[in-house]
Amino acid sequence: MLSVAEARERILSHFQPVVTESLPLIACANRVLAVDITAATDLPLFDNSSMDGFAVRSADTNPAAADSSVTLRVVADIPAGTSPKVTLAEGEAARITTGAQMPGGADAVIPVEDTDFNYRQPGTPKPETISFSRQVKAGENIRPRGLDLRAGDFVLHKGHTLRPQDLGLLAMLGVANVEVYKTPRVALLSSGDELLEVDAPLESGKIRDSNSYTLAALIESSGAIVMRLGVAKDTRKDVQALLEKAVKEKADLILSSAGVSVGAFDFVKEVIEANGKLDFWRVNMRPGKPFAFGEYRDINFIGLPGNPVSAFVGFEVFVRDALGRLSGKLNESRPRVRVRCEADVLSDGRESYLRAQVREVDGVLSAKLTGHQGSGNLLSLVQANALLIIPAGVKCVPAAQEVEAWLL
Ligand code: AMP
Ligand code: MG
Repeated sequence: MLSVAEARERILSHFQPVVTESLPLIACANRVLAVDITAATDLPLFDNSSMDGFAVRSADTNPAAADSSVTLRVVADIPAGTSPKVTLAEGEAARITTGAQMPGGADAVIPVEDTDFNYRQPGTPKPETISFSRQVKAGENIRPRGLDLRAGDFVLHKGHTLRPQDLGLLAMLGVANVEVYKTPRVALLSSGDELLEVDAPLESGKIRDSNSYTLAALIESSGAIVMRLGVAKDTRKDVQALLEKAVKEKADLILSSAGVSVGAFDFVKEVIEANGKLDFWRVNMRPGKPFAFGEYRDINFIGLPGNPVSAFVGFEVFVRDALGRLSGKLNESRPRVRVRCEADVLSDGRESYLRAQVREVDGVLSAKLTGHQGSGNLLSLVQANALLIIPAGVKCVPAAQEVEAWLL
């Protein structure tokens, strides 16, 4: 039986982004860059003031001290957004606002708070003169051109998922349209004669289809588009009919749950084999051993186990990163943290993903299992905020020992 690592490698090798599109910047939040971005301009674009105050020649402020003030003539007003027309001569200053371009001759800004000018009333015309009693150093309160970035500097790499602050920076650089990868489309189906819609009246022997809700939300949280195809009955014909629907919907991935074990009515594997290719169908892990991977008519197919916790874990272990690859994301796997077990944690020697509550105790992340680890016990996953990862071959992690975990 394949190990988790072998299964992951086999799956991930089938997922590559293909198609890109150019979108207006405003539509690019959470999208994945398909090109490297380098700066087209310097940032800041020009020397500008970081304070509301007065642009000065720092040498003119040298005589200023607590007991002797300096007075300068205010020869210009430079609001943000204007292009200064003056060059300061000795003894001259210009009123300037935050973000306004520095005038020629000036090499510092004295904040308005440090002058005798009453700045509390917006709209007050510039004063004839200002007086102040402290020195300013050359460069003080100036943001020089190119301080943050120089034209040609590398900014963001291909494969990066665009966050709000990235969009802001791209706007600063004048990037109006961005080449991003197309969002993958995932066809999602459940299978099982026992499954009812969430709002259908209960019937004897039946349960509600919960996986399609959990999995749809997981797919969306991975940045992919989900197409919920509903529930296939446990017949070859019904399973195949839904898979055909996925083909029509032009899915990049078909994701199903249940019907891939050794039950008498588990038809999913068989239909995949007859219409495509079944690569493997079991992984040495807990929960989640029945897990199928293959192709249905050239579309990648992943068959998750039916048990609700197994389906969730299977998604986190295999599908999230597969969708990440398909989306063009680079190295964005969920990070692992080290946590300390509060009590002995038992395992059965398979690589295991156990539901736990992690909290900080005296500066250390400390983990406690959230109840029995049956793969149908979704409540224990609801109560968990982490999955502890117990490596293959380990049967007991003693209390106080550390293990790796994913925070959910
Ligand atoms: P199977 O893989 O078909 O043997 O299903 C394994 C277990 O998962 C059974 O107890 C099923 O009833 C349950 N199950 C299968 N599909 C779902 C689903 N969509 N929602 C909730 N439970 C399910
Ligand atoms: Mg079934």
